[in-house]
Amino acid sequence: MAKGTIGVTTENIFPVIKKFLYSDHEIFLRELVSNAVDASQKMRTLSSFGEFKGELGDLEVRVKVDKDAGTLTVSDRGIGMTAEDIDKYINQIAFSGAEEFLAKYKDSANNIIGHFGLGFYSAFMVAKKVEINSLSYKEGAEPVCWTCDGSPEYSMERGDRADRGTDIILYIDDESKEFLEQIRIDTLLRKYCRFLPVPVYSGETLINALEPQWMKKPTELTDEDYIKFYHELYPGQDDPLFWIHLNVDYPFTLTGILYFPKIKNNFEITKNRIQLYCNQVFVTDSVEGVVPEFMMLLQGVIDSPDIPLNVSRSYLQSDTAVKKISGYITKKVSSRLEDLFKSDRKNFEQKWPDIRIFIEYGMLTDEKFCEAAMKFMLLEDTDRKFYTLEEYRTLVEPAQTDKDGNVVYLYATDPVAQYNYIKAANDKGYSVLLMDGQLDSHFVAMLEQKLEKTQLVRVDADVVERLIRKDDGRNAGLDATQRNILTTLFQSSAPKVDKAMFMVEFEKLAPGDMPIVITQNEYMRRMKDMAALQPGMSFYGELPDSYTLVVNTASPLVEKVCEEATKALADRIRPMEDAMAADNAKIEELRSGDKDGKLDTEAQKQTDELMAAVDKSRSEQEAVVKEYAATQPVVRQLVDLALLGNGLLRGKDLSDFIARSVELIGK
Ligand code: ADP
Repeated sequence: MAKGTIGVTTENIFPVIKKFLYSDHEIFLRELVSNAVDASQKMRTLSSFGEFKGELGDLEVRVKVDKDAGTLTVSDRGIGMTAEDIDKYINQIAFSGAEEFLAKYKDSANNIIGHFGLGFYSAFMVAKKVEINSLSYKEGAEPVCWTCDGSPEYSMERGDRADRGTDIILYIDDESKEFLEQIRIDTLLRKYCRFLPVPVYSGETLINALEPQWMKKPTELTDEDYIKFYHELYPGQDDPLFWIHLNVDYPFTLTGILYFPKIKNNFEITKNRIQLYCNQVFVTDSVEGVVPEFMMLLQGVIDSPDIPLNVSRSYLQSDTAVKKISGYITKKVSSRLEDLFKSDRKNFEQKWPDIRIFIEYGMLTDEKFCEAAMKFMLLEDTDRKFYTLEEYRTLVEPAQTDKDGNVVYLYATDPVAQYNYIKAANDKGYSVLLMDGQLDSHFVAMLEQKLEKTQLVRVDADVVERLIRKDDGRNAGLDATQRNILTTLFQSSAPKVDKAMFMVEFEKLAPGDMPIVITQNEYMRRMKDMAALQPGMSFYGELPDSYTLVVNTASPLVEKVCEEATKALADRIRPMEDAMAADNAKIEELRSGDKDGKLDTEAQKQTDELMAAVDKSRSEQEAVVKEYAATQPVVRQLVDLALLGNGLLRGKDLSDFIARSVELIGK
């Protein structure tokens, strides 16, 4: 019997393996089964090259749990190892500077094992003792039995294995008893070993009956094959919309199939993720860093031996191979989408509602993808027609260019609630885009940035006459006093709506248009919409919604209100206005007299007094109009009707409105 010390230059490798190297102890099984599969495949290769002439037999890997003995055994009929092999591959751990390495990495939980030939030693994460029973395929080889109890000492003696291959026997330690449960082992094997190229049995159950379709050539697969494989990966899902078969071997090796799923809810996105494999061994389904973030919405398999798998995420993201891979995947995805668009536009349009979120997310987060997607992304209008960016510009440019040469794209976020505005715009010959997706508030802002001389304006941002300004605005047809009176009259008739603010503006629309139209300022609304999606922007989120009551001075009803109010109030208001005007003129005069930006004490005192007088006149004036407003149920009624049309009239205001309506009808 031989005894020796494992050839690593530190005494402490096992505790480190146990504690630090892998946060996930379960991966020991993946490492051992992969080794067994490798050994089996090597055997197959040797045989096919004629270097092994004997009986190949069934090359299978068997995993057995013996709860009573407290062991877990991984057996293969691969090439086996001689004592020299064990010495070389197991006893001399294959890297130098182990101490340095361990010192550097012992604080981070995810680390390099496979990379440094430590895969086998991961067995010590769960075992107090490990035994290797092996018989090499080499002619005249003797069976060996290697044992190690987790100290740096091992023993090696003649073994009793009669047929070619290797048993790795783990004496599971007390903290790892879970790995003696058959169910746990079955689950793990199904997770990591489903697609391995050599049959793997857990007890009597075959684990890898499924074929790894991504290893095949795209020409060997039909649409049905792809769809079937998708359902095997993600049972209980709708058919995928389409898929991309990845296959590169230079400058890195990567295969895989990515599917565009039909997303029903966000929960599914987090559950059914892309699976990462390394030579058909499952590694992880958290692919952050390997694929661009927006592709997390995709599903399927990526298999590459070139992704450093046991390193930390931050390291992964800075890895040049990984960057190349990620860039390649992005390019493949965008060119596939472009192909689909070009080859079967109708089909692409049909699927657009489902892939839109993916494309918008990609365009918002990935500059390169955005550039590519500008060619095939679609805009949908409220008539459910689709346009490329270029087509849309050609369509709307003639009618929707404003006086400054900007093309104004109108959009709706809720075609039902904004029906009136959409109709008004359509009647005027404008097109209205549908922007009702989850990401559209960001997307609208992005489009505006990307497209030259383009503004996006929500269809209810203003009355239709003013959405696209062709001239500098028409005269509302009011004199200063009338404007004054009507502003207060309508403003004071607006109910107090929680978290809403109303401003009054006047516009001479068509006589047949509504007397009051409520609009919502584009800029403020967008800020609030974005704040709702982004926690950092809570300042805007707290602001009230700001609405504008656009009073149509051409409406006969408004004309009547104006006429009556002027008759009732103008004589009282005008002297106040004159007094205010005079006071303001005096303030101006005093201010223009100062030289060094500072008024002298006397002038300052006078100014203060005058300003107080102006304030007083203004509130007196307001009080007069408000008093009058209280006697004008019709004004209140007009405002309420406009609010009602926008779903803003609720609670007590709504029931007051109904009562007032009944009263007014009775008159
Ligand atoms: P890696 O697999 O990354 O090389 P391991 O520590 O897992 O590192 O294995 C070291 C070496 O031991 C392998 O490269 C292989 O030569 C040998 N080995 C491990 N398990 C087996 C096995 N079941 N049959 C034959 N050889 C094996």
